[in-house]
Amino acid sequence: MLFILIAHYSFGQNAQFEIPQIKSSGEELRIDGLVQPLLDDFISYCKKYNIDYHDNLFNLKEIAVVDTLQVSSKGGTLGMLVRNQNNDVEKIVFSWMTLLDKEILKVVAFHEFGHYFLGYKHVCDDCNIIMAKVNTSYFDIVLDWEYQVEKLFLESPEYLKKKNFIAHITH
Ligand SMILES: [Zn+2]
Repeated sequence: MLFILIAHYSFGQNAQFEIPQIKSSGEELRIDGLVQPLLDDFISYCKKYNIDYHDNLFNLKEIAVVDTLQVSSKGGTLGMLVRNQNNDVEKIVFSWMTLLDKEILKVVAFHEFGHYFLGYKHVCDDCNIIMAKVNTSYFDIVLDWEYQVEKLFLESPEYLKKKNFIAHITH
């Protein structure tokens, strides 16, 4: 079991590849290979719901799986946005613990992307939706994934901003 954990972990750390042509400055987004398909998936939803993601994606330097997030007997931080001195987000990091189950990584990734791309703060403490502060049951969210993602986008600050703007200019 320990061996499997270590194997997962080192794979997460090493499986990085770069996306060319995203950064004109020559500085490319470094993204963990395990998170890449989830980001692609999230971006396809952004396109579907007309969310502007280009600038945010451009400003991001790294999406990584790390072993530095806090863990205690009560649980641990599974993901977070890392800001620079100007308070701009430049990294999104995930705990190695998310690699224990790909469904956990999926929920945590969409949660952090929700903060970053959709302008979310936490919606509640623990209410079985993606933007809850704590998720005691990832399993329930995963079972209802399509509905959860639709709700995530349709109720997001970025989507509502856009909708209100359109309502405003058409009246
Ligand atoms: Zn959060």
